[in-house]
Amino acid sequence: MDGLLTFLGTGTSMGVPTLGCDCAVCTSADPRDRRLRPSVLVRWHEPGGGLERVVVIDTGPDFREQALRNGLTRVDAVFYTHSHADHILGMDDLRPLSFAVFREGGPIPLYAAPVTAEALERIYDYTFSSRATYPTRAKVELRPLAERTTVHGVEFLRVPVQHGEMEIAGFRFGRAAYLTDVSAIPESSFALLEGLDYLVVSALRHKPHPSHATVEQAVGWARRIGARQTWLTHIAHQLGHEETNRILPDGIRLAYDGLSLPVNLETAN
Ligand SMILES: [Zn+2]
Ligand SMILES: [Zn+2]
Repeated sequence: MDGLLTFLGTGTSMGVPTLGCDCAVCTSADPRDRRLRPSVLVRWHEPGGGLERVVVIDTGPDFREQALRNGLTRVDAVFYTHSHADHILGMDDLRPLSFAVFREGGPIPLYAAPVTAEALERIYDYTFSSRATYPTRAKVELRPLAERTTVHGVEFLRVPVQHGEMEIAGFRFGRAAYLTDVSAIPESSFALLEGLDYLVVSALRHKPHPSHATVEQAVGWARRIGARQTWLTHIAHQLGHEETNRILPDGIRLAYDGLSLPVNLETAN
């Protein structure tokens, strides 16, 4: 099955431009230097000309703007990588989309590991609490994140990665994988990343950071994993699009908001 992978946002937690900053990247005229908070979208048509299905990985604070820019009219499921603000704080903007999905067949499933689900329940108690009475709350339902989850015929495989001290979730779908907020990839996860057309992996900047990979680390993983193309995301304002791409090896590039890639969503066994 063929689908499309779209970068909704490729910026780090503070976004680029970063508030109050007048550096060359934050003031750049290149639209690829403007980066919303990190998220991707996977969409495909069900066989036989069926409905378009849409999965979002993370709903950060820019989700509403990202949905508008990309003409999103439905979301069939959300997968969460972890509970940091830049990955979850747009959840409430699923509300208008969730009403139509709910009428079709029920709430939008939100797949999240226990710590992430707890954070969502705490922040959005008016949505998830058993005492919630707010009538127009999002029609969403937290579901445990399993090793493999099938959404309308497409399998999403959880790929554990380290984010500083935390273990968080990356995802593989068909011949693509999305690993954000990575500081280390456990040996056992490399086995889940064979035969990729596209690897998306985070690379914050050149200077080391305790919970994010540098460009150099990400390039090292990219070489080992050997995807046909590697796209870097979760990019801070220290990395200009053009100048960074000039020094990156062939087959490895900075992603940018709105970039779409055709992806084979068939599960490789
Ligand atoms: Zn992040
Ligand atoms: Zn994070």
